[in-house]
Amino acid sequence: MTETPAPDFAEIGRKLFAEPCDFIWAASKIDNLPPQGAPEIAFAGRSNVGKSSLINALTNRKTLARTSNTPGRTQQLNFFALGPTPETAKLRLVDMPGYGYAAVSKEKVSSWTKLMQDYLRGRTTLMRVFVLIDGRHGLKETDTAMLDLLDRSAMSYQIVLTKKDEVKVRDVETRIAETLKALEKRPAAYPHVIFTSSDKGEGIPELRAAVAQLLAERGL
Ligand code: GDP
Repeated sequence: MTETPAPDFAEIGRKLFAEPCDFIWAASKIDNLPPQGAPEIAFAGRSNVGKSSLINALTNRKTLARTSNTPGRTQQLNFFALGPTPETAKLRLVDMPGYGYAAVSKEKVSSWTKLMQDYLRGRTTLMRVFVLIDGRHGLKETDTAMLDLLDRSAMSYQIVLTKKDEVKVRDVETRIAETLKALEKRPAAYPHVIFTSSDKGEGIPELRAAVAQLLAERGL
């Protein structure tokens, strides 16, 4: 009897992210979200964690997501469609506003939290949030607040560590282990951490494969 070979998610992911990718929508208020359509994955993280660089690396672009944008400027959710055309997109990527910027007023923090909360709770097409953590430092207090919000919203999330090229080889496994340990009691956390370097392309194929697998598990 011949067994069906396991799907090659690395290859499926590579092809998926080689599709055209276009900016389609920016929302700064919950009543201004794009109509639900293709399945979504979102990217969250502290300002400067390397979120724009990661989105650009995943999609093989240089300037799709704007890097080094001024922290604390207008906070919005940016939507990108991945597929032959925006209408026939297979997937949407959602760039969530960066958090943890010290100079932001309390008022802005609470409007940011409200927007995130409403989006996370009401978006049935959102499959998973990838929470980016600076690989040089590991989880910080503001990250913990984001994870709390995700757990409270019962929204599945996975940690992606960034800037691997700036972490000593001997510290890589330790950083992964301590991150997994911190996730143990978190109900909505996916128990696998991906360490990436957008500069060197490390971990990018693995992340694309994780997304391809996620789509396959949903039968999409
Ligand atoms: P964002 O604010 O989260 O969108 O972060 P950016 O993508 O703008 O990156 C913030 C800073 O980190 C920039 O100076 C990037 O060049 C740097 N950076 C981003 N990714 C990497 C990486 O993989 N390795 C290194 N060494 N630096 C990175």
